[in-house]
Amino acid sequence: MKYFPVFFDLDERIVVLIGDGLGIEAKLISLLKTKATIRVYASDPSYTLRTLTEDNRITLNKQLPTESDLRDATLVYLDGQDVRSHRDIRALCKVLGVPVNCIDNAASSDFISSAIVDRDPIVVAISSSGAAPVFVRKIKSQIESLLRPDTGVVARLAQLLRPRVYTALDGTNRRQFWQAFFSGTASDRLRRHGLQESRRIYQRELSDLASDSDGQGTNDVHPIALVGAGPGDPELLTLKARKLIDEAEVILFDRLVSPEIMDLARREATLIEVGKRPGGRSWTQEDINQALIDHGRAGSRVVRLKSGDPMIFGRADEELDALQAAGLDYQVVPGVTSASAASASIGTSLTRRDRNSAFSFLTAQDVRGFAEHDWRALAETGATAAVYMGVRAARFLQGRLLLHGANANTPICVVENASRKDERIIDFELGSLSSQMQAHDVQGPAIIFVGLRSREVASQVTPALQPAV
Ligand code: SAH
Repeated sequence: MKYFPVFFDLDERIVVLIGDGLGIEAKLISLLKTKATIRVYASDPSYTLRTLTEDNRITLNKQLPTESDLRDATLVYLDGQDVRSHRDIRALCKVLGVPVNCIDNAASSDFISSAIVDRDPIVVAISSSGAAPVFVRKIKSQIESLLRPDTGVVARLAQLLRPRVYTALDGTNRRQFWQAFFSGTASDRLRRHGLQESRRIYQRELSDLASDSDGQGTNDVHPIALVGAGPGDPELLTLKARKLIDEAEVILFDRLVSPEIMDLARREATLIEVGKRPGGRSWTQEDINQALIDHGRAGSRVVRLKSGDPMIFGRADEELDALQAAGLDYQVVPGVTSASAASASIGTSLTRRDRNSAFSFLTAQDVRGFAEHDWRALAETGATAAVYMGVRAARFLQGRLLLHGANANTPICVVENASRKDERIIDFELGSLSSQMQAHDVQGPAIIFVGLRSREVASQVTPALQPAV
């Protein structure tokens, strides 16, 4: 690491800016967020610079700084365009031991600036040591979206409460208090009551705890979260899902949740795959319900991670019923269902004006085996559906649709492993559904679209030959 990140205390310190360029203007705008006293030296100040320097913490000078102007400075910024003419100033700063930054010119600088994500008092500084500024911008925007807008105010509230927490709670209880605080209780309170009222509520609670000689802590329970993991690509997780995975102590997950998503779990978390047991026996729904209840009762933060959206073909109701019967609190976090991801991949929307104003989500399997549906309605020209769990039912689907009058040339589009690295898109027609699935050896999780083509194939079919879909 060539550059070592530090955070300078600029309260009532002096910062010197030299030059008139845009870099100096931008630096001044950032520095206005601190409480530094700022001296600007600009021979030909722009309108913006003049306006910005109207603040009484700032002085604007038209000459270059003298030795005594620089001696008490904490930091000096020089306009990077003017490095040559400022050689003497740099030399002087070196003698005085004042660090200098030549804006956008790392080679002539003692320190470099970072990109900043500002949720004061939480500040994230990002630097590529000058290697990849565009990458820094991308990382910055990723971090911006990770940090909730109330991050700063949560940290401020924590700061206000720290002394009280310290006196009211001992080690373990204190840790539990802060864990609950930063995992959502503070955000919820702040949203409902604002900063001052939330502070008063917490202070009252902490005083009560302090007067309890046993100091039992906050007794927080965490709702068990049924979370949609989406179709596989971790970037398709919701921010809420990401946060819950980050905090989870126990995760019960399905076989279809991708390894990349499971990699996001904390190292200490207990990960339980409820698809199959090591001995080979599958988990029954009752086993899963019981495991959720046991871990929930033990006070752990439990996440039940399901592929796609938990409320679509995920037996979510059965788990929620069990939790409710056990008197446990729960929450559901929706996810991107595979049909949505598959639709995005093929570039064809699930509904379209003049084509279909309704769309069916079907499962090819139910408790009895292959699932029966209103085949006649599905066989009509223009009907569209996404078939889940259809790989092994291909022959059955084909047979049922044809039997109920569907055209053999009804478009079929299969998306295997939607959103994943090994995604495949295969277009063909209903008449060859079963043989094509075999020929392409479709194994992975797949969505079978009935009545839809991928955009690529649709654009190759001449309009006259296109069925009215
Ligand atoms: N709750 C899930 C569906 C679970 S049922 C959801 O909303 O997506 C399991 C079926 O989902 C699989 O048989 C397959 O049809 C589909 N599926 C899950 N992940 C998929 C993926 N990445 N690509 C295509 N289909 C997928």
